[in-house]
Amino acid sequence: MFETLSGRFSGVFDKLRGRGALSEADVAEAMREVRLAMLDADVALPVVKDFVNKVRERAVGQEVLDSISPGQAVAKIVNDALIDALGGAGAVPLNLNNAAPIPILMVGLQGSGKTTTSGKIALRLQTRERRRVLLASLDVQRPAAQLQLQQLAERARVASLPIVPGQTPVQIAQRAIETGRREGFDVVILDTAGRLSIDEALMEEVRQIRAATNPAETLLVVDAMTGQDAVNTAKAFNEAVGVSGVVMTRMDGDARGGAALSMRAITGAPIKLTGSGEKLEALEEFHPERVAGRILG
Ligand code: GDP
Repeated sequence: MFETLSGRFSGVFDKLRGRGALSEADVAEAMREVRLAMLDADVALPVVKDFVNKVRERAVGQEVLDSISPGQAVAKIVNDALIDALGGAGAVPLNLNNAAPIPILMVGLQGSGKTTTSGKIALRLQTRERRRVLLASLDVQRPAAQLQLQQLAERARVASLPIVPGQTPVQIAQRAIETGRREGFDVVILDTAGRLSIDEALMEEVRQIRAATNPAETLLVVDAMTGQDAVNTAKAFNEAVGVSGVVMTRMDGDARGGAALSMRAITGAPIKLTGSGEKLEALEEFHPERVAGRILG
């Protein structure tokens, strides 16, 4: 990104080479480039405006070292600010410090990749962190949902809660935690029902499950390809039930990741993981510096 962006800026800044401090006019011209790149990457307009204002404040009056061009200097300021806005350098790990069995609640709209992500997280915790994981589907809306999770669990070689017809989501959640305790599981992943759109019944159900299980993480799964809709979904879930972290799926698609920046700015919830494919291994930690590069192109 650094090279690309400073390359983009070089036209703007070539004529400035050798000057001491960045003037307001110099910075304004560069900020137009940044603004366009961010809007192109589908960052929400208020977030773009706020970001550009902050960067402008940081950049104006900044001394440019002899060893770099002004274009490179501004690119570095932009890059650093973007990484900050995405949550700072480094990934935010899952909170797994509670006493076992640790409940992780998975929420999100239908089709976001929630069930697949539940399987991916289970596989990762079991293989990389040597935790014993139990997967449970609380989806009583779609008849096939519990079966889908069971099959996914088999593929991942992770245990899944036996299906008992006729139970409510809260009853299934409680049974999952009890089973986790009785059978010595470290982590219990609770995959809630998704809906096609946000509705009050969905939120109420999630609130009840939360109250009954006190999860260490409430992870919202959103599809990066849905751009601004993903941000609206995150805002609604965060306001209604509280979200401790976000998983952005379909980062293997051609979405430039602007939603990630809006997400962080609008909900304050850190993006903890990203999905990058249909395979169960396609789960990565969120690296702000990589997404910064993608946003600025
Ligand atoms: P749910 O309704 O939210 O539980 O969604 P599913 O987990 O059933 O996923 C819906 C579809 O998206 C499935 O075909 C998944 O294989 C696919 N999917 C999930 N995560 C990713 C991802 O990170 N990248 C890609 N390309 N596909 C994904």
